[in-house]
Amino acid sequence: MIVGKADKADKCIALTFDDGPDSTTGKLLAILRELQVCATFFLCGERIRVFPNEAKAIADAGHEIGNHSYDHVYMNELEEEAIYRNFKQAEGAIVEVAGKKPPFIRVPYVSYSESVFKAAMNMNMPVVGCDVIGHDWEEAVDEANIVENVLSSAKDGGVILLHEPYEKTRAALPVIVNALRLRGYAIMSVGELAKQRHMTLQAGVCYNALQEM
Ligand SMILES: [Zn+2]
Repeated sequence: MIVGKADKADKCIALTFDDGPDSTTGKLLAILRELQVCATFFLCGERIRVFPNEAKAIADAGHEIGNHSYDHVYMNELEEEAIYRNFKQAEGAIVEVAGKKPPFIRVPYVSYSESVFKAAMNMNMPVVGCDVIGHDWEEAVDEANIVENVLSSAKDGGVILLHEPYEKTRAALPVIVNALRLRGYAIMSVGELAKQRHMTLQAGVCYNALQEM
């Protein structure tokens, strides 16, 4: 028996949705329920104030909730203190609906700076990026393009980035999930992927993928 071989053969990939909650969250949750997938939702605090029931529905369905700032601003234009306050304000909104702190943050527009990472460190939060990008926010990208973008860059330990509000994203989702499963992938939240990889994510460090070192 080759120790570890069987584990290594199992491919895992994380699925994440940004920029919610949204009036369409329920539709997305129904598709994920049908597909039996648990994902990570990076929510904005301000949107939780507008769509609290949708945010609660995400938590109640067992999905993981991450922190995507309060108001989706460019963080690299802010001082460390303002970045800290912004994420903390979002954290407060998330705790109100989910009953627990988000385990990590995702920075809007990937607007990184030294201050962003210092703030993340002070919050004791890892930063989660992505490396499998659907580009679903681009107007020229249609359902078939989203499928192609994800499937062509999917990799073991990868983190898929999609966004909540788009009809085309919801349409692409079953195609993506079924194709990845045929390729031997298990699809999960970021936290579950870290667990599978026996990784403890470090505060102030950015992870675009969760590969064992
Ligand atoms: Zn975003």
